[in-house]
Amino acid sequence: MRPIFSPQSLPELFSIRNAHPDARLMAGGTDLLVRLRKQPADDRPLILLERIEALQRIETADTEIVIGAGVCFSRIATGECATTEIGVLAQAAATIGGPALRNMATIGGNVCTASPAGDSLPALYVLDASVELASAQGTRIMPVGEFISGPGKTQLGENEILLAIHIPRKRPAWTIQRYEKIGKRKSLAIAVASMAAALHLDENGIVHEARLAWGSVGPTVMRCPEAEEALLGRRLAADAIEAAAAFVPGSVRPIDDIRATAAYRRRVCANLLLRLLDS
Ligand SMILES: Cc1cc2nc3c(=O)[nH]c(=O)nc-3n(C[C@H](O)[C@H](O)[C@H](O)COP(=O)(O)OP(=O)(O)OC[C@H]3O[C@@H](n4cnc5c(N)ncnc54)[C@H](O)[C@@H]3O)c2cc1C
Repeated sequence: MRPIFSPQSLPELFSIRNAHPDARLMAGGTDLLVRLRKQPADDRPLILLERIEALQRIETADTEIVIGAGVCFSRIATGECATTEIGVLAQAAATIGGPALRNMATIGGNVCTASPAGDSLPALYVLDASVELASAQGTRIMPVGEFISGPGKTQLGENEILLAIHIPRKRPAWTIQRYEKIGKRKSLAIAVASMAAALHLDENGIVHEARLAWGSVGPTVMRCPEAEEALLGRRLAADAIEAAAAFVPGSVRPIDDIRATAAYRRRVCANLLLRLLDS
């Protein structure tokens, strides 16, 4: 039978891991249990993360917002997660699965799964988020874009866990934050393509800073610096957005799969940018 551990603190977790180096970590289990169901012979121990308080914190400090890896998406989507400052992440969280799934699925599990379709990821990229990794030896921090090295691949060390996500507080705050997702249906759908946008406009409506990121259209989240630059110094009107959108199909790297063709994804991710016209 599979041994299951439920530590209540990080030292307890690290000592269990030391004794069971082959153990797997489980947060909400919404990715892991699906995978384990396909491997009935796998009886490696499971270490449940849900009782570790350090993973459940949401803190707003002067310079950053810190979200524990064990925070579930319903907390992030419903605004407990500190304000409109990170509204794009709250919008992304609200698109994940359905209400029951959002009560279980954690941001840490989403980041560690590193799926190109992971909905929190484009939002974390535009918010310039970093991940804090912890082991018995200490902690280290790296940008989320470095942590995720490919589809399903991360820089998580063997003895490490993802402890928290750090999001710098933007000053002045982003004027516009948007998360857009195209799926096969409106809810309980994996993204065919998604886009996160964070823009800072001055009092005259001129774009001073633009950060754009797309999901499900490459091995990891894709940025398009040319599209971002095309918006700078311009009013957020149809001509500027169309000029920026023209760069997008050439800079993403989608594949054909059961959900959509690469050609459709290229077109749709440029079109997602046009939705900024409603902002
Ligand atoms: C029906 C259904 C619908 C879904 N819809 C969506 C969707 O719309 N959008 C979307 O992005 N995803 C979706 N998912 C995928 C999944 O729910 C998310 O990726 C979720 O965030 C995973 O989090 P979890 O806490 O359940 O992770 P788990 O399944 O517990 O873990 C996933 C992986 O991360 C590792 N891990 C978890 N936490 C840590 C940690 N703190 N440190 C180190 N490693 C860790 C685990 O070891 C495991 O390898 C869906 C899944 C299902 C079953």
